[in-house]
Amino acid sequence: MTTPAAPWTNWTGNVVADPIRRTAPTTVAEVTDAVISAAELGTRVKCVGAGHSFTPAAATDGVLISLDDLTGIESIVPTRGADGRVNGADVTVWAGTRLHRLGPLLWDLGLAQPNLGDFAEQSLAGAVSTGTHGTGCRAPGLPATVVGIQLVAADGTVIACSRDSHPDVFAAARLGIGALGIITKMTIRCVPAFALHADERPWTLSAVLQDMEGFARSADHAEFYWFPHTDAINVKRNTRLPGDADLKPVSRLQSAISDEFLSNEGFEAVCRAATRRPSITPRLNRFTARALSARTYTDRSYRVFASPRRVRFREMEYAVPIAAAGAVLGDIRDMIDRSGVLTPFPMEVRFAAADDVWLSTAHGREVCYIAVHQYHRMDHTELFRLAEEIFLAADGRPHWGKMHTRTADDLSSMVEHFDDFVEVRDRLDPDRVFGNTYTERVLP
Ligand SMILES: Cc1cc2nc3c(=O)[nH]c(=O)nc-3n(C[C@H](O)[C@H](O)[C@H](O)COP(=O)(O)OP(=O)(O)OC[C@H]3O[C@@H](n4cnc5c(N)ncnc54)[C@H](O)[C@@H]3O)c2cc1C
Repeated sequence: MTTPAAPWTNWTGNVVADPIRRTAPTTVAEVTDAVISAAELGTRVKCVGAGHSFTPAAATDGVLISLDDLTGIESIVPTRGADGRVNGADVTVWAGTRLHRLGPLLWDLGLAQPNLGDFAEQSLAGAVSTGTHGTGCRAPGLPATVVGIQLVAADGTVIACSRDSHPDVFAAARLGIGALGIITKMTIRCVPAFALHADERPWTLSAVLQDMEGFARSADHAEFYWFPHTDAINVKRNTRLPGDADLKPVSRLQSAISDEFLSNEGFEAVCRAATRRPSITPRLNRFTARALSARTYTDRSYRVFASPRRVRFREMEYAVPIAAAGAVLGDIRDMIDRSGVLTPFPMEVRFAAADDVWLSTAHGREVCYIAVHQYHRMDHTELFRLAEEIFLAADGRPHWGKMHTRTADDLSSMVEHFDDFVEVRDRLDPDRVFGNTYTERVLP
């Protein structure tokens, strides 16, 4: 279905665009038609997922394609381990499928994505295309779980790529920031469905800074939120259990209090108070940290990994080498104390295994992700500027979907396979049909 232009904005509202047309194809042939007709008119094309990137990655002044009508699971091929036993499946999923829909579909098939971020509104293709990750020293980000991709290139060619077929296109398209073509489906390597035992409790930043790596390895999926201007953190450790483990989910009441009120409605009120009177932010953060109490529960993996996030914010996130993480976070704490910048939003600290995805922030090294947030009604510029200086000094790499100031010149020396990626992009899209303001900044 094609509709006339209507302004587009991303989830947080910091990116606004004026596409000339919007279209929502329902088949691969319709995607091809949309790309060819736009190219013939000399118009640019961009596919949007859920619009949850903080960068203008999905913005376009040309044709905006949504794959919200190209969703669901297409096929499943069981995988086998060295002993010949089935150990999961390669699941081919239509690219517009939202992650929160995919979890239950996979669970019904006895399967799961091995790891997820903290939120699941994103489309599969959008999440993969910017390098979305969760936490866990043995758990790489989403792009590393992709084993096959079908994409429509700028000339309308439909390319099916994998490690065996068009391997260079595959290496680039596993994290392609929308610059290579429109991904119509992806095959992801899934594992048998599993449960997670969640252990959440208050702790202190000074304690965790004494041994960040030890903390990172203390559970299958360990992370924490630090409340700036305080020493308080909220630790989350998730341990994997078999899919048939007894589930003890959070009760409806507890969920209404903790996940809905404290993390959303109540937190919105806290952020509004901080906006009105910034000087009380440290007191508010102490109050928020104290309101979160310890809890444990066990539930299906996709329900534990992700939770609703309705308070809008801006975010910058860098991946730094895990060995540097403690020092970097200590520097961020000192910077906040010294500079007087204020934020009511907790910072999120997570970990990921090294992978071999060309543009991945964890390419070739185990990393710690440090995410700096600011409430969307408060100014983020000074906080993000100062934090970015610290990340860059520690050889940090920016998340492709979160705010940063790096350009192609900077990135070409930071990203090992940058030139390989650009070579594939130049071949698949010589006329920059899939270009936009973001690719113009981060790619040559
Ligand atoms: C509340 C919130 C929580 C978040 N949590 C996490 C987290 O836990 N971990 C993490 O790493 N990130 C997280 N993010 C960032 C988010 O996962 C990424 O920005 C992701 O790209 C958003 O997915 P999307 O579907 O909204 O993609 P969009 O923002 O719509 O698009 C992202 C990019 O993908 C491209 N794209 C989309 N679909 C296609 C397609 N079919 N073919 C080709 N290119 C395509 C777009 O053109 C664009 O370049 C979070 C963001 C928000 C707002």
